[in-house]
Amino acid sequence: AVRVVGSVNVDIVAQVERIPAPGETVLARSVERLAGGKGANQAVAAARMGAETAMIGAVGDDEAGGWMRAQLAEAGVDVAGLGTLAGAQTGTAYIAVDDAGENQIIVAAGANAQVSVPVVAAGGVLLAQLEVPIDALAPAFAEAGRLRMLNAAPPVAEARRLFGDVDVLIVNQHELAIFLDLPATPRTVEEALVARGLIGRPDQVVVVTLGAGGALAVWADRHLHVPAMPVVPIDTIGAGDCFCGALAAQLDAGIALEAALPVANAAAALCTQVRGAAPAMPTRAAVDAFVAQ
Ligand code: ADP
Repeated sequence: AVRVVGSVNVDIVAQVERIPAPGETVLARSVERLAGGKGANQAVAAARMGAETAMIGAVGDDEAGGWMRAQLAEAGVDVAGLGTLAGAQTGTAYIAVDDAGENQIIVAAGANAQVSVPVVAAGGVLLAQLEVPIDALAPAFAEAGRLRMLNAAPPVAEARRLFGDVDVLIVNQHELAIFLDLPATPRTVEEALVARGLIGRPDQVVVVTLGAGGALAVWADRHLHVPAMPVVPIDTIGAGDCFCGALAAQLDAGIALEAALPVANAAAALCTQVRGAAPAMPTRAAVDAFVAQ
């Protein structure tokens, strides 16, 4: 099973002609409420890819929390480990997207800031991100007996202390630059090999997602690059989350990383073909059909 420890947010997305300057008011063309939060997005991706998936996290005892619980359950995610915290607000992201596709985001962590992780059963995959407290993640990562995957996003510097307890670390180019204090963002496969600096043991691997450059897995003594699938992206929101969830589902099924990487890469490319995050996560059948094309 894949156990995702992470954030659950409602995304309030306003379409605007342009992002307002400080002190300015603009009118939204439309406002939508979408399921979001890196944790929830990755759980939906893993479930749609066929993994038995459970969400460990927290929502508030408000209407939005009930709605998110239902959204996750509908996607096939086990929500027994999703707590409802009395008096807390469900995490909320206020997102403005302008006509050029540029965005501005304000996140209120709400219940996500109070997530605590129960003792997680051995076996399967543990998949986490950094939108919940690192102190809550640390004990779960310290326990062996399962594959521990960390998507180190958003790039919270203190998360470095978890890296020694991670089996598969996943970062994008920007996160890679921040965690290694690089003066510039690595753009090419050759440049991204510096990711090796994030891991110390031969049994660890770091996966760097390179956007239109595909994905790169780096071990202590070798690497594997998978070029991106040729698509024209409509909306890349959630692509990184899709990649992580799909990779977790593959590894949970016992598939070797070398074979799992191209599947996650294809799933993430498909995710860019649909607007939104959670709603854009593809099914296993859709990914298989896409790869067979
Ligand atoms: P993030 O969403 O965290 O910024 P990336 O931009 O690296 O992450 O994208 C994650 C993954 O999504 C990539 O590794 C790739 O598999 C897929 N992807 C992203 N952009 C494209 C693209 N333009 N064409 C094909 N696949 C893409």
